[in-house]
Amino acid sequence: MSLDLLIRNGTIVDGSGAARYRGDVGIKDGRIIEIGRIRASAERTLDADGLIVAPGFIDGHTHMDAQVAWDPIGSCSCWHGVTTVIMGNCGFALAPCKPEAREWFARCLTAVEDIPTEAMLAGIDWTWESFPEYLATVDRLPKAINYGAYIGHSALRMYVMGKRALSERATEDDLARMAAAVQEAIRGGAMGFSSSRATTHVTPDDTPVASRIADWSEVDRLVGAMAELNAGIFQIGPDTSGGAAQRAFLARLKRVAVETGRPVMFGTISSRQGDEPNPWTYQLDYLDDCAAAGARMWGQTTTRSINAVFSLKSYLPFDVLPAWRELRRLPLAEQKQRLADRATRARLVADEAGMKPRGNVFQGGGAATTDPRKPDYDNLYVMKGVDWDDPTVAQLSAQRGKHPVEVMIDLALENDDQVFVQPLVNEHPDHVLGMLKHPRTLATFSDSGAHVCQEMGSSLQTHMLSYWVRAKQAFTLEEAVRKLTFDNASAWELYDRGLVRTGYQADLVLFDEGRVRPAMPTVETDLPGGARRLVQKAEGIAATVVNGQVTLEHGHATGRMPGALLRGPGARKG
Ligand SMILES: [Zn+2]
Repeated sequence: MSLDLLIRNGTIVDGSGAARYRGDVGIKDGRIIEIGRIRASAERTLDADGLIVAPGFIDGHTHMDAQVAWDPIGSCSCWHGVTTVIMGNCGFALAPCKPEAREWFARCLTAVEDIPTEAMLAGIDWTWESFPEYLATVDRLPKAINYGAYIGHSALRMYVMGKRALSERATEDDLARMAAAVQEAIRGGAMGFSSSRATTHVTPDDTPVASRIADWSEVDRLVGAMAELNAGIFQIGPDTSGGAAQRAFLARLKRVAVETGRPVMFGTISSRQGDEPNPWTYQLDYLDDCAAAGARMWGQTTTRSINAVFSLKSYLPFDVLPAWRELRRLPLAEQKQRLADRATRARLVADEAGMKPRGNVFQGGGAATTDPRKPDYDNLYVMKGVDWDDPTVAQLSAQRGKHPVEVMIDLALENDDQVFVQPLVNEHPDHVLGMLKHPRTLATFSDSGAHVCQEMGSSLQTHMLSYWVRAKQAFTLEEAVRKLTFDNASAWELYDRGLVRTGYQADLVLFDEGRVRPAMPTVETDLPGGARRLVQKAEGIAATVVNGQVTLEHGHATGRMPGALLRGPGARKG
């Protein structure tokens, strides 16, 4: 029999954590049908000599709900070996949504996730109303990676309650309608139900998003609706404000998990922000404690710091100041001219003294860029490479004997792609490693598709391989691959993905373990309507295969669109 694709002579790291071995992988009709020394002929052969052949990476925390409509390749995740993403996290989704609410939904996504309204209005052919109709749209769209989606609490609440969702308790009638819609979504293939109680999640009017208005009995009811079907994951953006508030949130979440028995996931982070931040280990002990009480709970962690990203081409921390605001409205070339002018520079530097002081308010990437506080220059890095060892603005300021603001202006003039990163959480590599090593955490949480000009988390997989495996040797390659593939496939019940095994879907990534790493991020204006976003690619990835077809070769899209809509276990029950 002739194969569709033969990957010859690679080193297979199969995703289970088992030791690597040399072999060929034979693919037919989207599936792996043979592994070993394959003699069959094939329509196409890839030479994987010297390369690792691993399952495609799975990212369970993205916000690609809007982007899927205009970006068929699934960037920036696709460039980092990702072949499957789950979207609709944190309660934000584009369905269900009544036609008259579309613009408001778009504006909410702009407010929380920095997905430009202009891009959404220009890039989406918005034809759906119900969640199953949205899934049908995603199913039809050309796509080079696989997508699963949650039904989002804020979207659902707005759909059922209208503007009341932003201020009122749900009535019994509201609850019954929301619960029915959750069950309809789960039966239609939603991966679960998502919500948020994160204090950073606000509407365009700076009020809490709809899911934060809900009381916990509403959460019990809606997660309970999934429990009746024994299907669906509950994902929630946690209260990260610190201290007693965070502990109370976690205690209440434990009750939901224990009482419903549904898998629960929340973002696990290490933070110095917030009121009396709880130690990062608190959440890990909590995960064990929940498991002992009978809950099925995961912490979603990333592999590095989560950063607000600044540059001349996007945001700078000073953009809100009067002298800066005037300058930043100008075309880039003119800005650079003025930045070189002595008198202007003096004004810009002086302006900084009037910035809002830093408090202990927890700021996500959104507020850090749009409502910035006076920077802590010891925690503002001048990005020189991707190895997490950059100098701080404070260090360069001391070296050069110049005000930190002048240093930043100089650097931006030397290179208008210069990027500055302010870690928001996970500042300490040791903490990140401690979280990653815990058996109840998942390496996920890129937030891909969101914070498009504020953060860049899409490189978490290549950072894992280059930093934690190659540079720090904190994980073997086999362990790291397992965390990015089989562990996530298991958590999201993707029963035929996440391993290189006969019978599994042929989602694969071929990379050079000695070279794989993220490239430097840049600011591009490639969104619909010309809106800007941060872009980060990778080096050392030779090819990506999705459902048996080569989608990327050396970072270039082949134009093949084999990506699938993945329906959750609720749909398979019939
Ligand atoms: Zn999120």
